[in-house]
Amino acid sequence: MSVHTKLYEGKAKIIYPTDDPQIFLAVFKDDATAFNAQKRGSIRGKGEINCSISSKLFKELEAHGVKTHFIDSPAPNQMRIEAVKILPLEVVVRNIAAGSLCQQTGLPLGTVLKQPLVEFYYKNDQLGDPLLTRDRLLLMELATVEQVNKITHLALQINEFLKDFFQQCDITLVDFKLEFGLNSQQQLLLADEISPDTCRLWDISAENDPNRRVLDKDRFRRDLGNVEDAYQEVLRRVIKAVERE
Ligand code: C5P
Repeated sequence: MSVHTKLYEGKAKIIYPTDDPQIFLAVFKDDATAFNAQKRGSIRGKGEINCSISSKLFKELEAHGVKTHFIDSPAPNQMRIEAVKILPLEVVVRNIAAGSLCQQTGLPLGTVLKQPLVEFYYKNDQLGDPLLTRDRLLLMELATVEQVNKITHLALQINEFLKDFFQQCDITLVDFKLEFGLNSQQQLLLADEISPDTCRLWDISAENDPNRRVLDKDRFRRDLGNVEDAYQEVLRRVIKAVERE
């Protein structure tokens, strides 16, 4: 398979077209950004780790009936994916209050939510990815009513699966971000990645220590150190859980 000029370069991945118009190649980078790219750095080995974790989670989700863009992983930091047009939405699911939910509502960090919260953010760097209301989302025609309903249903289904899966890894799934895309048949597919870059993951064995428990990008955001080690630890536990299944 020959690879062409890049189609798109994001903060964490480069997307290339391939000879097959239905297939793209995603190359995961070690680059790390936070706070809408105001903080920049690099996490050694992150590209390979996130690609491996995402590939395994997408495979597991497919096996549980969730359609994803994942095809296969030809190299540790590369994923062959179905060509999709990404909807300009960041879909965040929260089980426990953290991050912007605490900042914007005053809810104390760690508050267990009575039911999962699904939120939509406008994927727009210039505007700083603002939180959307359902009416604003529809007003801007970022998705149809049917797509919003389907995405909400899928996000909750994915949350149920991931919560259980991470529990088996002795990890609490605090919150995470999903992206969805449409393929050439206008089918809605789960896209992007699911990794410590896009999830908040707390180590159950250190759950009362607000710094030690962090196994995700908050280590980079908050300068907690040992970022690579935390990402590696998540990969190690994900591999073990998949092997046990
Ligand atoms: O910052 P906030 O608390 O809204 O983030 C919620 C979740 O979404 C976190 O797991 C965060 O890592 C993820 N997220 C992301 N990409 C963004 C914004 C948030 O992966 N652009």
